[in-house]
Amino acid sequence: MKQTAVVTSRVINTPDTVTIGFRVDGRGLEHRAGQYITVYFDDTDIREGKAYSLSSVPGAAESTITVKKIGLFSGKLHDLKIGDHLIISQPYGSFNAFVDEPIVAIAAGTGISPIWSVIQDETRRATGRPIRLLYSNRTPGDIVFREELKSLTDENDSFKLEHFITRSPSVSGVNHRRIDAKRDASAYKDTHCFYVCGSADFVRSIWRQLVDDGVSIDRITTETFFGAL
Ligand SMILES: Cc1cc2nc3c(=O)[nH]c(=O)nc-3n(C[C@H](O)[C@H](O)[C@H](O)COP(=O)(O)OP(=O)(O)OC[C@H]3O[C@@H](n4cnc5c(N)ncnc54)[C@H](O)[C@@H]3O)c2cc1C
Repeated sequence: MKQTAVVTSRVINTPDTVTIGFRVDGRGLEHRAGQYITVYFDDTDIREGKAYSLSSVPGAAESTITVKKIGLFSGKLHDLKIGDHLIISQPYGSFNAFVDEPIVAIAAGTGISPIWSVIQDETRRATGRPIRLLYSNRTPGDIVFREELKSLTDENDSFKLEHFITRSPSVSGVNHRRIDAKRDASAYKDTHCFYVCGSADFVRSIWRQLVDDGVSIDRITTETFFGAL
């Protein structure tokens, strides 16, 4: 069922990524961590709309999506102003497996969006569930939620973060290479579940690396941002 949301905030995360906050009937959406919505623009030919993961924590006063500008839909989302109306679906999807095992989350770019929702949800509920995030970006300037992730790492012993930078000169404290699931996550293959999110190429590649390393497919849950770069 479609519903009308009102844009209530707009935060620039990186030069090409914004987080758009919105409310329906004055409230955030009821959703589970890791779900997504479909956004519709009536003045486009894409009647089926496009999907965007919710980056907000369930129960928040406003819901958020975090959008990288690459084409028509994401450009229209970037152009939204506070007070604008937005046609959206109900939340859906089951990226978050809601099991008790510790998590290795592997994200690229805006693929952090549903994972950020899951991380905040676990932290807010103080589950103590260990989460290890491997986060890949082209340059340090592309890291979404950089400060928020750092604060969470500083405040929370159960949250570990490793950055991977693929296209920039040397900066300290990060890995200058692509994520290699065998090298970076093999130690957790029998004890953790794996949440993978990003572009189709990224998810396909990481899933293959995990499976080739002997991770059971039952332990891997993915969200593929089809249409994203
Ligand atoms: C479950 C799910 C969740 C998602 N969550 C998010 C999210 O949280 N954040 C987010 O930013 N995105 C997310 N996406 C991706 C999002 O749905 C859109 O696909 C994305 O925003 C691109 O849409 P667009 O209309 O802006 O770009 P498009 O216009 O579709 O362009 C996409 C790319 O394809 C190129 N392109 C377009 N048409 C052609 C053509 N004819 N020939 C060659 N190249 C072409 C464009 O230049 C651009 O590089 C998600 C996708 C899915 C499936």
